[in-house]
Amino acid sequence: MEALPERRRATLWPYRPHRMPDELLSSWLWRTTRGMGAPPRRFAVDAIGVRLADVDRDIDDAAIARLAHLSGQSPAYLRRGTMRADIEARTDDKREQVQQLLLRHGDLVLNRYRGGRHRAVPIVQYCPVCLGGVTSAYLRRGWRFSFEVVCFRDGCLLFDACWKCGALVDLLSSTVPSLGFLCCKCGAPLAKAPSLRMNDAVQEQAMLYDEIHRLMFGTAVNFAPARGREDLGRGYIETLSSGVLRGTNPANAADRHNAVMLEAARLRETSKIERNKQARAARTATRAARHVRSVFPPAPA
Ligand SMILES: [Zn+2]
Ligand SMILES: [Zn+2]
Repeated sequence: MEALPERRRATLWPYRPHRMPDELLSSWLWRTTRGMGAPPRRFAVDAIGVRLADVDRDIDDAAIARLAHLSGQSPAYLRRGTMRADIEARTDDKREQVQQLLLRHGDLVLNRYRGGRHRAVPIVQYCPVCLGGVTSAYLRRGWRFSFEVVCFRDGCLLFDACWKCGALVDLLSSTVPSLGFLCCKCGAPLAKAPSLRMNDAVQEQAMLYDEIHRLMFGTAVNFAPARGREDLGRGYIETLSSGVLRGTNPANAADRHNAVMLEAARLRETSKIERNKQARAARTATRAARHVRSVFPPAPA
């Protein structure tokens, strides 16, 4: 019998950065190529097996398993960097829980779609301040969502395209190695974009996350949407995605920023009315109880 040739084993990559907990898979893959001095486009095709228009949305489990094997990280951990709707979010991370719901319902993921048989092209926002930093220089998963308009870390307004030429950010399409985050069309360093601090908006966009979380999970501790709540939350997500905050062919960053501020103001107003209503109801209940006590004497023991 002829001996089978020994199976070729893939060895670990010599450079293996850890994916940050809130980092997009494509951003981590790009950082890996940078560390190895490899051209991103070819490296990504070799590692994944095919050229994907949107690595974060389209990557399958077989490719994830390969990346996990090459990088020494678990497939489940790498999968949490994707934008796939079928993954399990960490149960201790409120924002990640909401993002997972957003991937399942509504249209709040930023992308450009030209119609017909064209594929939707992903839009990845970026914060120039973070990309210019050391530990903060990576693309966040949250930056793919239409109502994240400022950076949670420093309050800087996010850019949804190259600040110089307007091209969409696509790090893995570059054919030459680079050390920095560059526009794939004109080569402008993304970290050099003129930053604008909008600190107020940090709290406002957090309110939208909180509202979706409240509707879906209420005060449940096990983070499984309660019956009926699923519909409430889904309805809210669909309302959000039907207006200025739609993800497909989105409005510009300034309009989305305004929409977030308006929605937060509406939520604040609604909760004030709700609080007043509850306080009134509590007062009425106390009065009624007092009345009942005064009319009916306590029963003999
Ligand atoms: Zn930032
Ligand atoms: Zn450019």
